[in-house]
Amino acid sequence: MQFDLRKFIAAGTKPYHAEFPCDLSAKDFAGARIPQPVTAVFDAETDGEEVRMTLRAKALVHGECARCLDPVEREETVEAEWTAKERDLDDPDFDLPLDEKGHLDVDEWLSQEFLFQIPTVLLCSPDCAGLCPRCGKKKAECVCPPEEEETAPADARLAILKSLLN
Ligand SMILES: [Zn+2]
Ligand SMILES: [Zn+2]
Repeated sequence: MQFDLRKFIAAGTKPYHAEFPCDLSAKDFAGARIPQPVTAVFDAETDGEEVRMTLRAKALVHGECARCLDPVEREETVEAEWTAKERDLDDPDFDLPLDEKGHLDVDEWLSQEFLFQIPTVLLCSPDCAGLCPRCGKKKAECVCPPEEEETAPADARLAILKSLLN
């Protein structure tokens, strides 16, 4: 959705409210995805000088556990608030996605907020033990003897020592 922010700053009197579907399925959120369309709620109101905008949405995020690679599904909520004045429209450092006409790309703004909101490391559970480095199975299912890992390097060092003594 596009919102004519320049026009609203210049001539908006009544509060603006919109609910619209937003398709973010093509976006990548640090490896996670939002495959289903999201319903976003956008509001704008002005006191004659400053425009206050809010953007809200809830999405089901699909990702993969960073430790065991199992699929992870979690709900994320965006609740963003922003104020803008007329001079912000020509500020190259203004953080919201505006085009040269002063139109706000609300879909892109929502996408930015989700990118900020979704953790870069997703876990299936906070205490996920991850995968065994030897057999590649989940640690909970793996049957590798635990002591092998500790003794192998020591034996290798001993073998070198022995070869030096000989
Ligand atoms: Zn996991
Ligand atoms: Zn194992």
